[in-house]
Amino acid sequence: MEIVNNPAQMRQMAQEWRAAGQKIALVPTMGYFHAGHLSLMRYGREAAHQLVVSLFVNPAQFGPHEDLDRYPRDLERDSSMAREVGVDVLYTPLAEAMYPQGYQTYVTVEGLSRGLCGASRPGHFRGVATVVLKLLNQVQPHLAVFGEKDYQQLQVIRRLVKDLDVPVEIVGRPIVREEDGLAMSSRNTYLSPEERAAALCLFRAIKAARELVLSGAKSRESVLEAVKGMISATPHTNIDYVALVDPETLEEVAMIQDEARLALAVWVGKTRLIDNTLLSESRLCCV
Ligand code: AMP
Repeated sequence: MEIVNNPAQMRQMAQEWRAAGQKIALVPTMGYFHAGHLSLMRYGREAAHQLVVSLFVNPAQFGPHEDLDRYPRDLERDSSMAREVGVDVLYTPLAEAMYPQGYQTYVTVEGLSRGLCGASRPGHFRGVATVVLKLLNQVQPHLAVFGEKDYQQLQVIRRLVKDLDVPVEIVGRPIVREEDGLAMSSRNTYLSPEERAAALCLFRAIKAARELVLSGAKSRESVLEAVKGMISATPHTNIDYVALVDPETLEEVAMIQDEARLALAVWVGKTRLIDNTLLSESRLCCV
């Protein structure tokens, strides 16, 4: 595995692979790998000749009072995990190389970025869309793999590549969870033991919502009430949002007609956790 931090070198390698007819997969990450990241890498490993994993804690997607400075970082640990999965290039550009002096171009995916996390984190998806477009231009992948854990991000990126005619296939992969159901996240390392126990209320609420829908509940009120009730009853928690949305447009729905996405963001102590699930009238979803 090669570690590359220079965008020009990355692009050069990508051009050579393409000239040799090789298929390239990209998995964009902010590092501090867990099994969720590894599942995306394994997918990319199977799907392409060359697998690039980018590791970049993107300042443009953090708000001024967010956790950019304390976001967990461990390049040595990440490199050895990536090497084990068979990653070809770990691409680790520096912020100064991504946003050099004079940088002033940003991409906004308008409607999809507005609600949910976009409402609580102004500018977040502008930063995400910008960095992902830059990474796609640098790595020139045939496919890029993202997790459904960040469901709104996935929809924003699907829209971005469609609207701007970026020739890449976007693949969304299921949420990987801890054994007890907590969605894996690099930010879980912030949780104290009490908070870790409290954090389980997100998955418990998701399971309760799935069961409710399977037993015939269809209205937004009934689902949201159950979810909010379970979370509010848990110590150390504070709800940022709980929403029932159309899986494509992310607009709020009043009733579940066939399928809807339940999305939630909850503060557990000083850590903001997100989770989501597909709610389907007809099938029991597993992620
Ligand atoms: P991050 O490093 O948190 O920015 O995440 C990098 C990629 O991994 C994104 O596409 C995330 O959606 C994905 N990801 C993060 N956590 C999980 C998880 N628990 N299961 C599946 N994918 C995940």
